Amino acid sequence: MSERRTATIVGGGLAGLSAASSLAQAGWRVLVLERAAEFGEVGAGLAITGNGMAALDALGVAAHVRSAGYETFAAGTRDRRGRWLLRIPPVGTDGAAAVNRVCGVHRQRLHAVLLAAAGECDLLTGARVIDVQAGVPSGMPASVTWSDGAGLHTRTSDLLVAADGARSTARGLLFPRAGVALQYSGWTSWRAVVDDDRITSAGFAVWWGPSAEFGAVRISDSQVYWYGYFRHPAGQAFADELAAATEQFAGWAPEVSATVAATSATKLLRHDVHHLPGGLPTFVCGRTVLIGDAAHAMLPTMGQGANTSLEDGVCVGRLIAQPVDAGMPLPDALAAFDSARRPRCRQIARRSLLTARFGAHVPGGLPQVLRNAAIRAIPAGPAVAAGAAVLRWTAPARGPDTDRPSSGRLVP
Ligand SMILES: Cc1cc2nc3c(=O)[nH]c(=O)nc-3n(C[C@H](O)[C@H](O)[C@H](O)COP(=O)(O)OP(=O)(O)OC[C@H]3O[C@@H](n4cnc5c(N)ncnc54)[C@H](O)[C@@H]3O)c2cc1C
Repeated sequence: MSERRTATIVGGGLAGLSAASSLAQAGWRVLVLERAAEFGEVGAGLAITGNGMAALDALGVAAHVRSAGYETFAAGTRDRRGRWLLRIPPVGTDGAAAVNRVCGVHRQRLHAVLLAAAGECDLLTGARVIDVQAGVPSGMPASVTWSDGAGLHTRTSDLLVAADGARSTARGLLFPRAGVALQYSGWTSWRAVVDDDRITSAGFAVWWGPSAEFGAVRISDSQVYWYGYFRHPAGQAFADELAAATEQFAGWAPEVSATVAATSATKLLRHDVHHLPGGLPTFVCGRTVLIGDAAHAMLPTMGQGANTSLEDGVCVGRLIAQPVDAGMPLPDALAAFDSARRPRCRQIARRSLLTARFGAHVPGGLPQVLRNAAIRAIPAGPAVAAGAAVLRWTAPARGPDTDRPSSGRLVP
């Protein structure tokens, strides 16, 4: 058997770990470099939609994630007082069933499942990548340089995967043009997990109010994850974040106020939302492929950043590693990855922006009234059908003979 091919992954978030698993499934030797002292996730919860579950299924971990999370469904969107704007038919009543399904899960539990699945890879923490050389697809290997407590290290590999998040160092080095710079969206988001059973378990619910959105989904029998997205200048903290959240959502539906009231100040996070509104000209540079937020940081208004990151990870194994092992030239495999991933992610990023413009970004007063009236006039069917194109994603087929064992280890 020929020598195993190698891949280095920059970043051990959801995108990086799913790519690690799918490359290991293909039999590649994988090194994951994570700058944090420990692998883990900052953040609260996530709603994994059908496409994300399909990706997790392809990685062989969907059942683990289901049992770590809470299976429910997308209920629809309400106005801030709780009146329905768009009600999605409940699961099982029509063809919307598969599209509706979501699994609410704590990010740390999802991350832990993916970390276990990548256990065959070499996993290095405290490794901050400071330089990347993209390599030449039919020639020079890619190279990555990182620093840790012991100094600088460089490694070359057949494939480099940049999964280092929205503020990607790799993207900055590979695409230095200002046109692909990350931008502050003008919006920020509180996130928290509350130990509470007051929020109904009847689905993932979203409320739209003046220049704001609130969403909540159950992530276990006893926990609810909520986010509160609103307009705010970049980098400006409140003296008391919980008091500010309480004020922001005062007068909203009773479930919203009750959920904010049940939040502990120490568990409330807030992150400014950045995105790549212009998109990247390509997800591929030399022997390097960009995935996750590094490639397509998008607004969270369709809840697709993590879901598409999981898809990307699967596609690294199935559209690059497996075809290359089967004899496809690497440049062709990289081009196939770019053609499959970039248009889809670009379209979802654009739809997220559009959803924001008709949803969370609509200001108060007359615009709210007109928007609400317009949405109520639209039957749910076409709106659900429009979302189905995003959510009914299936992973590229797995090639034969890809269950080769690999001999990874956890690097302390
Ligand atoms: C408020 C909010 C709500 C959201 N809700 C949802 C949702 O419901 N559903 C959904 O699908 N998405 C959601 N998202 C988006 C989702 O969180 C992201 O798209 C997803 O986590 C991106 O994963 P990633 O692995 O690409 O990046 P990250 O999670 O940022 O991981 C990048 C990793 O790379 C590491 N790293 C960075 N630089 C270096 C370096 N130089 N060297 C080594 N390592 C490095 C980091 O430490 C990190 O571990 C939301 C986002 C926000 C802001």
